Amino acid sequence: MQIILVSRSRKVPRTIDLGSRRIRWKMAALGALAVGTCMVMGAAVALALASPRDQALAQIRDLERTVGQQNQQLAEVRRDAQRNLDALAIKLGQLQAQSTRLNALGERLAQMGKLDNGEFDFDQPPPVGGVEDASATSYTLPQTLESGIDQLASQFDAQQAQLSALQSLLMDARIDSNLKPTGMPVQGYISSYFGRRPDPFNGHIARHTGIDIAVPLGTPVHAVAEGMVTFAGVRNGYGKVIEIDHGNGYMTRYAHNSKLIAHPGQRVRVGDVIADAGSTGRSTGSHVHFEVWYKGRVVNPLAYVRSHR
Ligand SMILES: [Zn+2]
Repeated sequence: MQIILVSRSRKVPRTIDLGSRRIRWKMAALGALAVGTCMVMGAAVALALASPRDQALAQIRDLERTVGQQNQQLAEVRRDAQRNLDALAIKLGQLQAQSTRLNALGERLAQMGKLDNGEFDFDQPPPVGGVEDASATSYTLPQTLESGIDQLASQFDAQQAQLSALQSLLMDARIDSNLKPTGMPVQGYISSYFGRRPDPFNGHIARHTGIDIAVPLGTPVHAVAEGMVTFAGVRNGYGKVIEIDHGNGYMTRYAHNSKLIAHPGQRVRVGDVIADAGSTGRSTGSHVHFEVWYKGRVVNPLAYVRSHR
């Protein structure tokens, strides 16, 4: 069957082919819509004409329907919340695992830094649970999750405090190491050791208070530790000499220089050039006479020049 529509605005009449499946669907939908509209209007008219008791009943039915819908929504929210809780529980498990790793790291740091273990509580048992535990156990009560998070937060706080303390201790250790004489002031061979030896000028047995390192004239002389230059000038026998106080009982002396570069009161760091080597004072050739003093007594510098930072 075909319906032909003729309108003034169209020159060609429009043909609706009821044999087409799409058109049939459209017509059916339009029909349904018309029927629906009629029913709603009918119901409205019926309600308007119905008695107050019927109106109240209808309202109650409406309310019941609303309550039913709300119950459904609530169930959905519950399901969503459970899903979120599960996700949170997994996250919590991951955080707990991280906390455990942090503990292990802190312990290793404490061992590496040879720090007193008693000060650090990295041995405390790792938190109950872990990634696998958390995903296997469903947290049904938010309180469980909340207390878990609180516990973890306080653990992180404690670990943070411990790690900061550890860091400052390690920093102090590094500063201490910078203050201790370490290595040679110049690269050269040791031509004379510390201790009793025949004096190179008169042959008398005398105590050599440092080591001599043979180097060409003008070789840069480096500070072997951080400190403050306390003397830069000429001392009897030493020639042009630099003395550095390292502030922790250590003092170093660099003698027979050709030129002094550092000046008294100057702060020097490890490796700073403080002088050029030479042969001033009682010296038979270009070398650095190097002394280490500890708590007011001259000591054998050999162990210090052979140590590494
Ligand atoms: Zn010497």
